[in-house]
Amino acid sequence: MENPLIPKWTGPHGGVPPFDKVKVASFKPALEAAMAECLAEMDRIANDPAPPTFANTIEAMEKGGRMLDRVGNIYGVWSSTMRNAAFQEVEREMEPKLAAFRDEVVQNEKLFRRIAAVYGAREKSGLDAEQKRLTWLKYQDFARSGAKLDAVAKKKLSDINQRLATLYTQFSQNVLADENTALILDSETELAGLPQSLRDAAAQAAKERDQPGKWAILNTRSSVEPFLTYSQRRDLRKRVWEAFVSRGDNGNERDNKKIIAEIVKLRGERAKLLGYASHAHWRLEMSMAKTPERATQLMEAVWRPAVKRVAEEVADMQAVADKEGAGIRIEPWDYRYYAEKVRKAKYDVDDNEVMPYLQLENLREAMFWVAGELLDLHFAPVKDVPVYHPDVRVWEVKDGAGRHVALFYFDPYARADKSSGAWMNAYRNQERFDGEVTTIVSNNSNFVKGKPGEPILVSWDDAVTLFHEFGHALHGISSSVRYPSLSGTNVDRDYVEFPSQLLEHWLATPEVLNKYARHCKTGASIPQSLVKKIERASKFNKGFENVEYLSSALVDMRMHLAPDKASDITEFERGTLSALGMPKEMVMRHRLPHFGHLFSSDSYSAGYYSYLWADTLSADAFEAFTEAGGAYDKGVARKLREYVFSTGNSVDPAEGYRAFRGRDAGIEALMRRRGFAPPLHRQQ
Ligand SMILES: [Zn+2]
Repeated sequence: MENPLIPKWTGPHGGVPPFDKVKVASFKPALEAAMAECLAEMDRIANDPAPPTFANTIEAMEKGGRMLDRVGNIYGVWSSTMRNAAFQEVEREMEPKLAAFRDEVVQNEKLFRRIAAVYGAREKSGLDAEQKRLTWLKYQDFARSGAKLDAVAKKKLSDINQRLATLYTQFSQNVLADENTALILDSETELAGLPQSLRDAAAQAAKERDQPGKWAILNTRSSVEPFLTYSQRRDLRKRVWEAFVSRGDNGNERDNKKIIAEIVKLRGERAKLLGYASHAHWRLEMSMAKTPERATQLMEAVWRPAVKRVAEEVADMQAVADKEGAGIRIEPWDYRYYAEKVRKAKYDVDDNEVMPYLQLENLREAMFWVAGELLDLHFAPVKDVPVYHPDVRVWEVKDGAGRHVALFYFDPYARADKSSGAWMNAYRNQERFDGEVTTIVSNNSNFVKGKPGEPILVSWDDAVTLFHEFGHALHGISSSVRYPSLSGTNVDRDYVEFPSQLLEHWLATPEVLNKYARHCKTGASIPQSLVKKIERASKFNKGFENVEYLSSALVDMRMHLAPDKASDITEFERGTLSALGMPKEMVMRHRLPHFGHLFSSDSYSAGYYSYLWADTLSADAFEAFTEAGGAYDKGVARKLREYVFSTGNSVDPAEGYRAFRGRDAGIEALMRRRGFAPPLHRQQ
């Protein structure tokens, strides 16, 4: 019987992933066959008797590896959303093999000599701009991954990469296991303060855990944060908070601290081997920031006013607690609870009042509407496409001329074996090189299902995240380039967050709120007075948000600049935070023992700063709209599509931004958006 993962995708819309046929047992043989095929393809290119040209080398490589793309993408979907025990076993076996395979391609000397030859001749061989950029990136990718090393160093590098792959898998499987735990509450009194929607969700979650009649607070962000915001039970807030911040840090068999220490040490060794001062220097070389120093400078410019703001926020909260006669000092498990009280007191708005207007399905419709207004993309549901779980739904995306563009898969609900958080995933990248293909992207999140048939209400923050991930999806869908390697979101991570963070701004536009923020019971649209209050409160709690994020980003960068200091993870985290002047009422958004951005792969390592970097662009870019008269200005939207959403990695991101805005982005818009004073002296 043929392995369902291997053949070209068939079915409607130019072929779709055969999710309905996938069995966990199919992954290993399919990955092995696909790696073997890819290695054979690369060998064929390397041994081509014809002299190296762009067509017979770079383009031939773009044509190759297609089976591995297909298999690898479905493997990735299982890894993030269907990661049961059987699949985890496959990962543990296959991840080091995949790492070894990637090194084998990079270390193919004949292949690299051909790439280097095409790269050397790129200016005089009649290539267009996109082809030149592809050649440059391909050369950099190989050179930076060790293609120039001698045989001994190559072997050492490959050993390091395989060991790292094993450690990343262990790390993320440990976090998943800790997030699969829950605090079970037995009595109604333990729910004091929780709004009905949270009670329903907790009851549903308990039922799914075979504890009917009880309530389960899952150890994931989307369950923990609302609990910490509303629960009047300080003792339970503390327990929920402690379980959440201790993921991967419980001294048991799932503890991640030793794993992290080894990861950081190996990354340091690898960077040295590749000729870089540190892992951070290696990772940032191809980014917009270019150097750890430039990234750090930006972080520090925002860190100082953010810490100052936290002190003001804590003073406000302490005053509320004192007035209540609570007899407490504000502790980390009190922050969200009292912040909510201050917000209510200062701005007369609380999330509880806003949430009934934020229904998941209406917000999804709102995102689709924004995509139509900004990018002329139009969504219609389809039923003829297989999915990997009954919760997943699919839409076809067409352009204004009715031309089929893409498929959008939406997997919104939390379940066991699914990673927490929210993310976008590309199942198939846009390209024009090997024929027109249907771009396929997905959005994934972890909303807790409420009572069957009742609308799912989400917090303002979760609504922002929904728009954020949809921004990534639109970045993938809008792509219009020739080569798949340059397509869509295949850009550096400090640029990839720009389109997504930009799209967040449209949630708060009156057009969206008036039309889509409708009350779950009455259907009435959100009152203007409440919209005004939300606007006024938009700079509220920025101290907390920025310190929570920046402490994580600064610890990440310092750790990857000085791996020698990070052998004891607990001590490194404590010492770095104390040196930074971390307010004692707060913790990092992601403590090191569960910081998946850094340790489940290389991707955001020494790169958590990227969100801030990209936000300098998104804050500045949104002002282009407001300056032109509004968030739906057609002229600015056209430029946005042309220079940002459609270009993928086919142009240098700094140049693309300049073409859109007419200048570089400064830090001023970023500071304005946070309600911080801009620095007196411009940063160099
Ligand atoms: Zn993002």
